[in-house]
Amino acid sequence: MPHGPKKTKPEVKPGVPQPGNLNPQLQRRQRPQLTAEQYVAGIRRGDRVILGQAITLIESRRAEHQALAQRITEGCLPHCGQSVRIGITGTPGVGKSSFIEAFGLHLLGQGHRLAVLAIDPTSQVSHGSILGDKTRMEKLAASEQSFIRPSPAGESLGGVARKTREAIILCEAAGFDIIIIETVGVGQSETAVHSMTDFFLLLLLPGGGDELQGIKRGIVEMADLIAVNKADGERLALAKQSMQEYRNALHLFPPKDSGWTPTVEICSATTGMGIPEIWQHIFSFRKMASASGYMDQHRRQQARYWLYETIDNQLRAAFFQDQAVREKLKSIEAAILAGQKTSFQGAEELLALFLKKRDFPG
Ligand code: GDP
Repeated sequence: MPHGPKKTKPEVKPGVPQPGNLNPQLQRRQRPQLTAEQYVAGIRRGDRVILGQAITLIESRRAEHQALAQRITEGCLPHCGQSVRIGITGTPGVGKSSFIEAFGLHLLGQGHRLAVLAIDPTSQVSHGSILGDKTRMEKLAASEQSFIRPSPAGESLGGVARKTREAIILCEAAGFDIIIIETVGVGQSETAVHSMTDFFLLLLLPGGGDELQGIKRGIVEMADLIAVNKADGERLALAKQSMQEYRNALHLFPPKDSGWTPTVEICSATTGMGIPEIWQHIFSFRKMASASGYMDQHRRQQARYWLYETIDNQLRAAFFQDQAVREKLKSIEAAILAGQKTSFQGAEELLALFLKKRDFPG
């Protein structure tokens, strides 16, 4: 074979030993996959590497990964449910990562094991804007007693939420007794986090009304506890004033189904002030909610909500991915906009196509 500059592939000579894979990262990725039972056993042992790999399977789009992930989740299901699930939200910069680091270290000091998951539908654009940068959770990330996982990327909110819910099951089976689900104070993600947690913590900055902080009223209403963070240095006085204002405002909200009265505290992720008190509130909530039966009832309600939510999401996704629907959608939309069809006729036609019923009139 002539040797020219165009030749790109090295010639394989018989008898010459071939070098192994030069990139150890690639070799590591090709590790043999475990069986579902081995994954479950590893998770139950609290093996964080196996737990991480199992969550990667949950996040994978490959059919064989999804089938394996489903068997792992089913294997973990009998061992889950023993944790407190805490949702944490607040606008970017309020100090969520710093708070979780300080709060988490406090919990580890008390002998708890903590998993931190995130729901961030914007991460499909920014590639994991929250928890992606773990530098503010350095000590927590280094601890054997904690597990930190950024939001699955490249997914709709429905997809992210479903995957996070399954990840909660795995983390609980791995013995993490406190699960934090972090989200940013934008979009619909708070509703998703609220519907998979027991306790909802809203972080705010000292001063500034809800509008100034970009917080929607609905989110304040969801909160079981509001913590005014950065209550240190010259912002302490302002933080105390904000606490009082929010305490007054909370009186105007209707009582919660849980029987819990939401509270407002100040804290500083930097100095640690107020962090033990916040945990004390959550601990009291848990005791109260377990004793009254609210915890079980609420989790059953959430399970039902996610059943219907998942059906809605999957049906919707299947509809819009359907080849026949995709071929017709734009022309039917144009006919509706031109006044040639009603929206209802258009929807009927598309649904009939989807359901493979082709017997509609016209
Ligand atoms: P996140 O975007 O909500 O996760 O916020 P970060 O945890 O990344 O914090 C944003 C900035 O606020 C960082 O520069 C932190 O050092 C700072 N910060 C966070 N908590 C506190 C606090 O309690 N006091 C003060 N003074 N600064 C804080």
